Amino acid sequence: MRNTKQDRLSFRQAMAYTCRGFRIWRKIAPEALLAAGTVRAVNALAPYVPLYFTARLVNAIIGGGAGVWPMLAALLISTALAGVIQALAKAWDGTMVDSLAETAPNRLFFEKLLSMDFCDVDEPKTQALLTQIMQNNNWSGWGLLNIYGCFADLVEAVMLIVGAVALSVSLFTLPVPAGSPLAWLNSPLCLGGMAAALVTSVALSGALFNRANGYWARYDGTQGNRGFSYFYFIAMRERQRAADIRAYAQDRFLEDAGRAEMRGETSFGPNSTIGRAGRGPMGALMAGSGAVSQAFVGVIYLFAGLKALGGAFGVGSVAQYVGALAGLARGFTDLLAVLSQLRANAEYLKPVYEFLDIPNRMYQGSLTTEKRSDRKYEIEFRDVSFQYPGTDTWALHHVNMKFDVGERLAVVGENGSGKTTFIKLLCRLYDPTEGEILLNGIDIRKYRYDNYLALFSVVFQDFKLLSQPLGANVAAAEGYDRVRAADCLEQAGFGPRLAELPKGLDTCLYREFEDSGVEISGGEAQKIALARVLYQDAPFIVLDEPTAALDPEAEAEVYTKFNDIVEDKTAIYISHRLSSCRFCDEIAVFDHGQVVQQGTHDTLVETEGKYKALWEAQAQYYQEKNGQT
Ligand code: ADP
Repeated sequence: MRNTKQDRLSFRQAMAYTCRGFRIWRKIAPEALLAAGTVRAVNALAPYVPLYFTARLVNAIIGGGAGVWPMLAALLISTALAGVIQALAKAWDGTMVDSLAETAPNRLFFEKLLSMDFCDVDEPKTQALLTQIMQNNNWSGWGLLNIYGCFADLVEAVMLIVGAVALSVSLFTLPVPAGSPLAWLNSPLCLGGMAAALVTSVALSGALFNRANGYWARYDGTQGNRGFSYFYFIAMRERQRAADIRAYAQDRFLEDAGRAEMRGETSFGPNSTIGRAGRGPMGALMAGSGAVSQAFVGVIYLFAGLKALGGAFGVGSVAQYVGALAGLARGFTDLLAVLSQLRANAEYLKPVYEFLDIPNRMYQGSLTTEKRSDRKYEIEFRDVSFQYPGTDTWALHHVNMKFDVGERLAVVGENGSGKTTFIKLLCRLYDPTEGEILLNGIDIRKYRYDNYLALFSVVFQDFKLLSQPLGANVAAAEGYDRVRAADCLEQAGFGPRLAELPKGLDTCLYREFEDSGVEISGGEAQKIALARVLYQDAPFIVLDEPTAALDPEAEAEVYTKFNDIVEDKTAIYISHRLSSCRFCDEIAVFDHGQVVQQGTHDTLVETEGKYKALWEAQAQYYQEKNGQT
């Protein structure tokens, strides 16, 4: 995934991207930015302090000893003070890096993900963008994190230059006394020569450094990193995959990847493109850059030494000027390096902004759904059709359906017939492509989104519980009503297991966070998810294949219980096991995105059609199965 020349950002665009990056940082972690800036400014200026006072001290000693002691005291105190300030700033900055800076961009991405329209979260493109951002970041801190690092480098470079200018002005302003054979050093030509040497050194050393650094930008390690993170982080660390890896000897893939790594055949090894460049042209360019800087230091030594010899200033000042001008050159070189780094990094900001700029397109109305005490809600699908973004097939086609609160509605049909899509539209995770969904006669888009969502408690087919205390999972919150949580678990059939748990509601699920956490089976997880639905007490309860992980007995138990405990709420069950839905008031049969039949079990099973065919096929399957066992 290399950038072609055409998609490379222009210089202006790169600067605009970078400035936006700085603005983002100022918003998400201003204190971290301030701490990093302070520590790097102090780091840049601190070495100048002893440089200045040592020069004064040496001059005093050579000049006959007057003022040596006060100067010595000034040197010691100022150096100690600079050291203390440096240590304090470093400690401050250290806490920022740990607590803020590193996590701030991730928090930003996380918040964006939570606030964007669900249809965009679900888009493979969004996930690909996020993966790319994370990979760039993990690979070498490219992207938003790099802006933070560059800001600190920028401050240091600028302060190096400021300090150096302050300490080296007198090198050029103090003249060699007239009559000295070295008085020609006062000529503007010499000044010009020194300036030219500085510019040449900075430009040449910077250019060599940039060319060397360019190898990083030219070589995109994303693909290598993707493989690395996949094999090492996902495949090896995810416990859920352990059984599959063994069953299919997938460790062969891992081993192959590992062996390739050892031979350096991967993107990161010594024989990789970047590894070879490091030993070859890239390394040579780096060495050349250092050599040019050192040659400039030699030139300053010569100039300052000759001026001191001519009597322009004391010998002690030579060290100061050399130190200051070397600092000046380093400051300029660093400045150029940061600018080139920012230029290269701007390319990595593209996916970051593409992600952050995903607009919220879903219309959000302002009507409130007002939790009605009579719980009178009526939902109607009016000629609803839907295509998933980026597809041209109809996942739902001309669906018309109406149901009142208090009903038990079953949505049945074969896999892929549109059942889950129907629920996603009902819960407004997506808006219909055509047609409309009405709540009490009003298009659901006109209601406040959060208000509307609060009407539903859903157990999705692929629901996930968190590695958090059991009670917090049930309440979906940290502070909760313990009696109610326990009651809901009891109603969902988890009571006996709860009684066995030594820490009860405080038992942590899974072991990601606590060694004493419990592993729960799929069936138990489903009961907890059902308890979560009950705890929410929303007027609509949606269960998408809620019993898929349960054995038939447990399934029957859940359904019988649930039918009682949903009370006056509307329950919508989705299942491809028809036997589970017999008790429902109304059954909608989906086929290829359409509702092909609707009615009670008794009428549907008597009518020729999809339901009867499915029923008979499944009855036969169960009979055969029961016959075998
Ligand atoms: P069911 O729940 O009945 O098994 P779904 O509602 O999940 O069926 O799927 C209906 C159709 O929509 C299927 O053809 C499926 O492949 C397609 N589909 C489901 N989810 C997506 C998605 N996120 N993007 C594109 N197509 C999808």
